[in-house]
This record gives sequence, C-alpha cells and structure tokens, in this order.
Amino acid sequence: MAKADKYTISDLQRDFPNDEVALALIFNTLHSKECSCGGTYKKVNARKKYQCSKCRFQIAPTAGTIFHKSATNLTTWFYALFVFSNAKSGISAKELERQIGVTYKCAYRMLKQIREALSQGNDKLDGDVEMDTGFFGGIQKGDKAKGYEKKGLVMAAVQRGGNMKAMIMPSIGKQAHDAFLAHNVAKTARLLTDGAPVFKNAGYQNEQVIHSKKEYARGDVHINTVESFFSHVKRSINGTYKTISKEQLQSYLDSFVFHYNNRHSDTERFAFLLGAVLRGAK
Ligand SMILES: [Zn+2]
Repeated sequence: MAKADKYTISDLQRDFPNDEVALALIFNTLHSKECSCGGTYKKVNARKKYQCSKCRFQIAPTAGTIFHKSATNLTTWFYALFVFSNAKSGISAKELERQIGVTYKCAYRMLKQIREALSQGNDKLDGDVEMDTGFFGGIQKGDKAKGYEKKGLVMAAVQRGGNMKAMIMPSIGKQAHDAFLAHNVAKTARLLTDGAPVFKNAGYQNEQVIHSKKEYARGDVHINTVESFFSHVKRSINGTYKTISKEQLQSYLDSFVFHYNNRHSDTERFAFLLGAVLRGAK
C-alpha cells in the first residue's frame, strides 16, 4: 500500500480537528448550502444546527444519522469509525470501550450502528467468479449441535481482482445456491467452484476443482481467493469476538465484506465508511 493510501491518526486529526469540522462535513454531504429561498446556510454559534441567512429555517445536520442525539461527541464518533475502518480482523466492543473511553454498552451500540450501515449492495459480480460455502458463528462453548440450524450457513462469491459477496443462506440445496447466484453473480461470469453437483446445471459456464480427488488448482481453476476470505473471517471471529450469535452474523459478514472490497486504500475505505454511515441517514 502506497503512503498516500494509508490513513493514520494524524490524518484523522488534521481532517477532523474538532466537532465543528465534523459537523460541516455531515452538513455538506447531506444538504446544500443554498436554501431554496435564495439565502445561505450558516452554522449557528454554539449549537449543532445550521440556519438560513434569509428565511431563518434551521437544519440539524445529524438528524436521521447514527450521530443524532448521541451523548458521544462527533470527534469521538469519527475516531470510532477510524478504528473500525482500520481493524481488518474486526474490533470488539471491549476494545473500543478501552480505546475511546466510553461505557461498554455505548461502545457495543456504536459498533452495531456502524455495521448496520454496511449492508451489501445489489451490484453483480462478473468475470472470473469463485464461489464457496462455509459454516460460521453461532458457535457457543459447549454447544454440541451440528449443522446449519445452529451454525450460520454462509455462501460467498468473489470476482477475482474485484468485490466479495457473502450471505447467510437457509440451506445448502440447489434452490439456495440458485438464489444466491441469481442475486450476486451475472450470468456472463465464469463460475469457479468445488465439485458440488449443484453448480452443474446452474446456468453458468462452470469449472470445478475436485477437492475430494486432492485437486486444489488446475491452471487458473481454483477457489483459493474465496477460501482465504472464509479462513480470514473464521480466524477473526475466533480471535476478536469469540462468539457471535447467528442473528448478528450477517452484519458481521457485511463488515468483513466492506473491509475486503475496500482493501487497497485506508483513505478510500475510511471515506467509504463515512459515506455509508451518512447514506444510511433516515
Ligand atoms: Zn431560506
């Protein structure tokens, strides 16, 4: 990663030295400085509001965002986003609590709100696409239940050199595979998979590596990229969160996908995260 692609704590402090600057970014992202009456919006002194110079209409820039009515100030919120953005193996509420000096409950809520802003879009993967299935999360200590009723069954696909998609699915049957593919992979893609029979008549150009025959790659036919993603997520969940509930698994997957898809630049990843949080404004 080139130096310009790094985004460090000093970059953050330079870009957002105080709450006023952070509020200005939020206002400028969500609103126009020009009011429809012809006036111009300016910050109201000592308040988290902007006011039109002519008609006096007031706008609270944080309204509808995760920052609104939060006891945590914007600079601390932005620092939490920065920490989240740089934590490629995830960050626990305990660790965020320690780093920003808020309560555990507050740190937990902040992380949950950040993850919720990162749901995956509807764009489709194309080109060389690797697909695989894995079992995740929901694994509590002493939980002996096997199968995806207790664990989360996850399907993931990655476009080589491009983006990742990962979704919890209800079963490993052909219907579920077809639904995942229809939602995430363009018909023109070349689908690279393991030897599961469900891929044969899925309507794709499909090439398979047969793991059961100890075949892991045949020329450029392999699923190593998607398998590495699965093992990174598994390692991270075990190392950072210990356990996560099946109910929350999708939002954790969304944040790992966010990190993967924005892996080339810390700066762009942080900008994307800020944008996603603000785009989620209701
Ligand atoms: Zn006005």
